[in-house]
Amino acid sequence: MSLQETFGSLVFNDAVMRQRLPKETYQVLHRTIAEGRTLNADVASVVANTMKDWAMEKGATHYTHWFQPMTGVTAEKHDSFLSPIEGGGAIMEFSGKELVRGESDASSFPSGGLRSTFEARGYTAWDPTSYAFIKGDTLCIPTAFCGYGGQALDKKTPLLRSMQALSHQAKRILRLFGHHDVKKVTATVGPEQEYFLIDRELYDQRKDLIYTGRTLLGARPPKGQELDDHYFGNLKPRVAAFMREVDEELWKLGVSAKTEHNEAAPCQHELAPIFTTANLATDHNQLTMETMRRVAAKHGFACLLHEKPFAGVNGSGKHNNWSMSTDTGMNLLEPGETPAENAQFLLFLVAVIKAVDLHQDLLRISVASAGNDHRLGAHEAPPAIVSIFLGDELQQILDALEHHNAYVAGEKTTMNIGVKTLPRIPKDTTDRNRTSPLAFTGNKFEFRMPGSAMSISEANVVLNTAVADVLADFADELEKADDLRAAVEQIVVDTITRHKRILFSGNSYSKEWKQEAEKRGLLNLPSTPDALPYLILPRNIALFERQRVYTGEEIHSRYEIQLENYCKILLIEGHTMLDMVNQEIIPAVMAYAKKVADSALAKRAFLPDLDLSCEERLVRRLNELLLGISEKARALEDSMNALPRDEKPLIRARHCRDQIFQAMESLRKLADQAEMITEESIWPFPGYGKLLTTK
Ligand code: ADP
Ligand code: MG
Repeated sequence: MSLQETFGSLVFNDAVMRQRLPKETYQVLHRTIAEGRTLNADVASVVANTMKDWAMEKGATHYTHWFQPMTGVTAEKHDSFLSPIEGGGAIMEFSGKELVRGESDASSFPSGGLRSTFEARGYTAWDPTSYAFIKGDTLCIPTAFCGYGGQALDKKTPLLRSMQALSHQAKRILRLFGHHDVKKVTATVGPEQEYFLIDRELYDQRKDLIYTGRTLLGARPPKGQELDDHYFGNLKPRVAAFMREVDEELWKLGVSAKTEHNEAAPCQHELAPIFTTANLATDHNQLTMETMRRVAAKHGFACLLHEKPFAGVNGSGKHNNWSMSTDTGMNLLEPGETPAENAQFLLFLVAVIKAVDLHQDLLRISVASAGNDHRLGAHEAPPAIVSIFLGDELQQILDALEHHNAYVAGEKTTMNIGVKTLPRIPKDTTDRNRTSPLAFTGNKFEFRMPGSAMSISEANVVLNTAVADVLADFADELEKADDLRAAVEQIVVDTITRHKRILFSGNSYSKEWKQEAEKRGLLNLPSTPDALPYLILPRNIALFERQRVYTGEEIHSRYEIQLENYCKILLIEGHTMLDMVNQEIIPAVMAYAKKVADSALAKRAFLPDLDLSCEERLVRRLNELLLGISEKARALEDSMNALPRDEKPLIRARHCRDQIFQAMESLRKLADQAEMITEESIWPFPGYGKLLTTK
């Protein structure tokens, strides 16, 4: 099959619908999708039937409502197309009702108290803005997942709501600029996915990788990332074969992926798709992660999506490129050529600046997880402090606007600043600041804080909602204004003046920035338990309610789920570490100490005058470490037993961070020292050096 035939071949997309649906049905459906309206039942029946026939031709026998519960993974409940008929036999059936609405026993998915057990059912509803696709023998119907009261129990529902809010408010602004033809504004997203690829055979020997996705133990290898010789280096043939297959699998699903270069760390790579709507990008990213894991296993690899699989080595993120575009093809963050376009661009730009400054806490929360806490602020990753990098040129333009100065453009022409004579904004002059959490990159923002394992839904919910809310304020003001241009200028200048503290061009990784950020009053929330309490602040609940993205009840449920999830992860890590230490490391170190002692005894028997101080020193050191390790292991166990059962989730999460995690760190230190002086063949599992070298 040619690439053109492959691409989207397993997707019930617009082209397939146009070809297969009756003309009127197609038009109604197309309008429903384009304008985000609800699907009527007659149309749904026709679509369902056509979809079923198409899927069966492609070999599907089952269908599932594919959804993203709050666990962060995707869930599926498979049903067969086969319906028994009276008198025996069966017919192939799939009705409009089954397409649009599925029911599922939701009691095993986390709801944070939103659903009591007697109403454990949830329902799933087809999201027609995301195309159905075929995976294996199953037609997957992307759906939203709600409780019977309509409460969002998933990650898609709030994302769709936030996209609606953004569209609504952005259209109000665009109308003021004369764009009456715009029917819809869409948040666009292109997430770059980082990941590690290691040998499956080595992976299978480590309980920590298997159970927790990261190494809980491991001494520094003699050669780590120091030489940076991996970055954009040649691909190993096995890795190249894996990438080719991932690309092909994703193309069939309509994901325009391009797995390419090596990242900075050894064994680290990146996959970048071409951007699409925030909603599709989120679905596609979930499919991408699933596909990478599956294909990796086929090629003898394990694909690690954890944010920090190896201490002391770069972590993995998911750079969330975000912008807004209209159904008429305008990117609202494209600087444009003429002053009028620039005024509109500047208004949207400062809306993002204000939104990010006002809602730093929510952006930080949107990327909070036990895994990402290890990455943020560590090796080559943005800090937990949110700030924006605009690039020199744009920064200078905003400075000039703020101070009503003349802006001297690159070609040295002087201009008066004022909306009437706004400067031409030079294109593509933004330099790359790789250290910034949120960088303007020409015609979009790149949010670099999301972790590699997480759904990008939350990050985009917050970006969409926060920007929608600021645009609402701007629109309120501008709709009242007599002189639009003067009012726009006023808003732009005021916003820069009030929110410029969030702009930072320097090195975000530096210690100095931490101090400077503190002086500016920016938030620094290093861990998940530090960040989450901000979620339930009245002003944040008010924001989400105002934009109809979450109810207060939904926010509280998410708050509890996230904290509980954090605790669960730390407990699993603690137990895994104890297993490895008690069942593998302590016996190995003992065996090695015995081997050295036996050898010393043999030498002494053989030649009584030999100097055995090397053996003696080593056995003493090993024994010291053994004592330390068993003591620290005991302390870790105690800290886990001391986790208060009946306390609030925040108290529990803090206990996990301050007691359990600290106990793990102390234990790790000693175990890693033991690894460094123990004979390699006796050490019970492969160390960093081996793990990070792919053959
Ligand atoms: P790089 O950052 O490596 O230079 P690009 O800037 O071309 O690469 O794109 C990085 C990612 O940003 C890609 O996934 C791309 O599709 C996405 N992207 C480009 N334009 C937009 C946009 N307007 N909205 C959202 N994402 C975009
Ligand atoms: Mg990038």
